[in-house]
Amino acid sequence: MTQEIGGFAALGLHPNILSALTAVGYEEPSPIQAQAIPVILAGQDMIGQAQTGTGKTAAFALPLLSKIDPAKREPQALILAPTRELALQVATAFETYSKQMPGLNVVAVYGGAPMGPQLKAIRQGAQVIVATPGRLVDHLRRDEKVLSTIQYLVLDEADEMLKLGFMDDLEVIFEAMPETRQSVLFSATLPHSIRSIAEKHLRNPQHIKIASKTQTVTAIEQAHLMVHADQKHAAVLRLLEVEEFDALIGFVRTKQATLDLAAILEAKGYKAAALNGDIAQNQRERVIESLKDGRLDIVIATDVAARGLDVPRITHVMNVDMPYDPESYVHRIGRTGRAGRTGRALLLVTPRERRMLQVIERVTGQKVGEVKLPNGQQVLDARIKKLTTSLTPLVADAEATHGELLDRLTADIGCSPRALASALLRLATKGQALTLAEVEREQPLVPNNAPRERSERSDRGDSRERRAPVPLAEGRARCRTALGARDGIAAKNLLGAILNEGGLVREAIGRIQVRESFSLVELPEDGLERLLTKLKDTRVGGKPLKLRRYRED
Ligand code: AMP
Repeated sequence: MTQEIGGFAALGLHPNILSALTAVGYEEPSPIQAQAIPVILAGQDMIGQAQTGTGKTAAFALPLLSKIDPAKREPQALILAPTRELALQVATAFETYSKQMPGLNVVAVYGGAPMGPQLKAIRQGAQVIVATPGRLVDHLRRDEKVLSTIQYLVLDEADEMLKLGFMDDLEVIFEAMPETRQSVLFSATLPHSIRSIAEKHLRNPQHIKIASKTQTVTAIEQAHLMVHADQKHAAVLRLLEVEEFDALIGFVRTKQATLDLAAILEAKGYKAAALNGDIAQNQRERVIESLKDGRLDIVIATDVAARGLDVPRITHVMNVDMPYDPESYVHRIGRTGRAGRTGRALLLVTPRERRMLQVIERVTGQKVGEVKLPNGQQVLDARIKKLTTSLTPLVADAEATHGELLDRLTADIGCSPRALASALLRLATKGQALTLAEVEREQPLVPNNAPRERSERSDRGDSRERRAPVPLAEGRARCRTALGARDGIAAKNLLGAILNEGGLVREAIGRIQVRESFSLVELPEDGLERLLTKLKDTRVGGKPLKLRRYRED
């Protein structure tokens, strides 16, 4: 077993969880995991201040799975998440980490899917329920005993839940659980409303926060690129073409990812290798030596393996996967700009990780400007520039040494010097794509500014020219009323009525669009049916509101 898994092993997790971690390739706990896991294992209530990208899901999933008894076929842990997307993601994480726990079942409970199968899974003894509050309350209305065996509760992204107007639902849920349960709350921010929930429903919670010191990184030029997770490898390949680097270190999160990316780069002809905690110490040292002396130009590493790496040739750091926190970002990019040189740091950001980018900017006190994905023309120009650079010094004396040979060959073959030079270029460039059409065929990519958010969510296939409705924020549903401008209605009238009679907080209501003969309002998806029932007799400007779910397709 490697020394890095020791990092997790030392925390006291169940051996089955440790072997699942080995399988997913996590090398060491992230800072929030290192702090939260022992607290949760010890049975203490806890408040964790952390956002997406810090590894917070595993911070609660791993200790809870260690504590749950798979032999008992009843709900033991409840995780509440603000949106269906997050609930599904958390449920998937629980499934991954419990691969070696036979008999452990996880059910995701969220609005917009039929209730029957969800209830059945709960009754059949799923030990972990991951739910959005609105739908869970709907289940409680049918069966108030659903949560009576819960021993562990996690509120994930608690601030987001309150923003979406779930305060009342949370109260109902708290009431339905045994008071003896252990409660853990995760939130990126701790506004007053969250503190008062904690005061009321948590017992002596331990507060865990990853301290963020301001750190400066002036000698390093930083940039980020927005990219979808499934296009990361393609984006890395394009960036490598246009970035003028001497040596580069790329950071990813798992051992497997180091191997995968290094293999792709090697196949493309780069002198690249992986560096991770599974690689024996002497082999690691060889990799670093090779990077120092130029036998390697690229190393793809995990944080652990690259700790303390000091190679002056490194001109570039590429954060292929987001670091867990600003400190680790600063540490990573400090692998370049060594010995008074300047360096360049690139950060790949997926849409969900935008917030982490802001945190990094805040902590480093620096803006991390955006670069666009290089297009085919830029890739081509970069290739031709490299070719020019490598040929220029040869041209000076090649005619003296090879001129006669050229004359003879053109005569023997019976071709023009241009034809022969072209053939030699083809030979020298080993079939590399050197026309725009070829480059684009070789690297088909969706431009990074294309609106893919929607297709990620709806998977409806060809969405190119649908009448481009304004994309809905996560967890929101669009509703329609037949009241519009011609009825003398303004957005503020609708807002006022829905806030007052629906009992929502302002943040729970999204865009309101008032058109001539109707209006559209964005409301929380969860608990929507109940909200609409609550508003069924509401009148605005003396006329019935009659709000209905609106489907654009
Ligand atoms: P989260 O902050 O929970 O959304 O997690 C962010 C990402 O980090 C997820 O893709 C996890 O699979 C990954 N992750 C969490 N913990 C670790 C770890 N200790 N080592 C490597 N990757 C991790």
